Amino acid sequence: MSREEEYEGYHEGSGRPVIPWRIKNQLFMSQKGKCFYCGYTRRMRYLEIDHKYPVSRGGGDEIENLQLLCTPCNMRKGIQSDEEFRTRYWRLLPPNGSVPPSPIPQPLFRDETQQTRASAKVRAIYRDRFMSYRWRRGSNIVLLAEAALMLAQFLGSVALVVITSSFRGTRFLWRRLRQRERLG
Ligand SMILES: [Zn+2]
Repeated sequence: MSREEEYEGYHEGSGRPVIPWRIKNQLFMSQKGKCFYCGYTRRMRYLEIDHKYPVSRGGGDEIENLQLLCTPCNMRKGIQSDEEFRTRYWRLLPPNGSVPPSPIPQPLFRDETQQTRASAKVRAIYRDRFMSYRWRRGSNIVLLAEAALMLAQFLGSVALVVITSSFRGTRFLWRRLRQRERLG
C-alpha cells in the first residue's frame, strides 16, 4: 500500500492530506499520552498533531517531523520550530529533548514567554507576514491615493480657516470683542 492510499482524505482549506489516525495513535503510544512540552496527560482527542518544523516554513508530514501537543503548548509554539521553542524555553524543558518527567504548569511557560524573546528569525517571519498582509490589503496606488486625500483634506481645512477669518462678519465680531475689552 502506497503512502498516498493510506491517507484519509484532504484538508478542505489547504488541500493537504489528512494525517492518518494510525500515525496519531503511534505518536500517542510513544509519548504515553502526554503533551511533549508540558508533560500533562491528555486524552488523544485533546492532543494536536504538531509539525516540529512548521508546514508554513517547508516542513513535511514525515512521522519524524510530528509530535502531539496540548492546545496551549501548540498555540505557544506558533510558527516557531521545535528547535527554536526548545532554545527559548530551555530553562523549563529537559535538556535531552524528551517528555518532561513531571508536568510543567502553563503559568511557568507564560512567565518564560514574558522573559524571553522569540528568535530574530521568528520575529522577522511575523514582521514579513504583517507587512505582506498590509501590502495585499492596499496596493501601492491605493496607499498613494489615501495619502493624497489626506493632504487635500488638510489643505482644505487650512483654506477654510483662512477664508472664515477673512470673512467680513468674523472681522466685525473680532472688532466688537476688542472694543468691549477696551471699554471693560
Ligand atoms: Zn502542553
